[in-house]
Amino acid sequence: MSSTTPPRPIDVTAIFPQLAPMARTATRLHPRPGAPSPHDSSVGGPLLWPADEPWPYCDGPHEWDGLNEVLSPADIRLQREIRAAVAARRAGGTHPPHHTPEERALEERISAGQPWPEGPVAMLPVAQLFARDVPLLKAPGNADADLLQVLWCPFDHPDHPRTALYWRSSATISDSLAVQPAPPALQFPGYLPEPCLLTPEEVTEYPNPLELSKDDQQQLKDPTRWRQAGSGWDDAYGVAADEFYRNLLSTAPGWKAGGWTRWGLTDPMPRRCSTCGTDMDPLLTIASREWNSSTTSWIPLEDQADAISSPASAQPSHPTLLDLARGYDLQLHMCPASPEHPHLELIQ
Ligand SMILES: [Zn+2]
Ligand SMILES: [Zn+2]
Repeated sequence: MSSTTPPRPIDVTAIFPQLAPMARTATRLHPRPGAPSPHDSSVGGPLLWPADEPWPYCDGPHEWDGLNEVLSPADIRLQREIRAAVAARRAGGTHPPHHTPEERALEERISAGQPWPEGPVAMLPVAQLFARDVPLLKAPGNADADLLQVLWCPFDHPDHPRTALYWRSSATISDSLAVQPAPPALQFPGYLPEPCLLTPEEVTEYPNPLELSKDDQQQLKDPTRWRQAGSGWDDAYGVAADEFYRNLLSTAPGWKAGGWTRWGLTDPMPRRCSTCGTDMDPLLTIASREWNSSTTSWIPLEDQADAISSPASAQPSHPTLLDLARGYDLQLHMCPASPEHPHLELIQ
């Protein structure tokens, strides 16, 4: 299986040669629901975790906001199964009621929730990436590390889950932990990633327009420059030519490693290491969606038919079923000087 981003409609460096030195490689991860093993790169799959190493727990604080019930991982999965079955009946045109009586009873039992957890919470596997699948992954100063593992505590700290990163040499793990602890509950169902396999693909990215100089930003807004590109240019963007650049040519949507920071919730801000002050690099983008209505040009060729025909509940744009901060992304940045320096979590 593979995922292929359609070629960009324009080689942006042919019109704006000053962008050429800013080209960066990003690896789109293209998560797809599956059954990953601890030896696969995955989202939401089991980790290759040393059997003799303690599993990480989060000490909180986890303070109940009184706004919603918390659900167990098993109940979230059951709720997803029921909702997928109901959506399939609805899409198939069967008459209501679309829930069976058993499903309705289960939904009621699930929605009553679980007790708010007392004490430390087991962290949840979010992603595991092997360098053989994502070659651009490198732990600064640790040439042996070929495996990045990301876990999170599925409670807000204070606005999103708190992440923990582990770099490992996979060759040193002879005995992998068979039974991996799980949190008793999650603050939101959207914090539980569906197990997914990855079909990584390298693409070229350029900075968000707001990270360019004022002069370059002005040039990007000039449709006469873009018209020189010929048929690849879409004149519907004539009144906002820089949007053409932003949506189609700068940063890829969805899960990715490396590349440029995506901005959307706020304007760009400095991302400096809290230990040494070095500018930090984008490491991993954990995305709520693989694309949205402004980034459809990035839909992989293999997904285009499903993206048109699938019901909302089975959209290939939402394979992980994650939902962060109402549809935004959590972008992890790391200090290029040392993997020991704390990473940065950015919601955009
Ligand atoms: Zn926590
Ligand atoms: Zn640093």
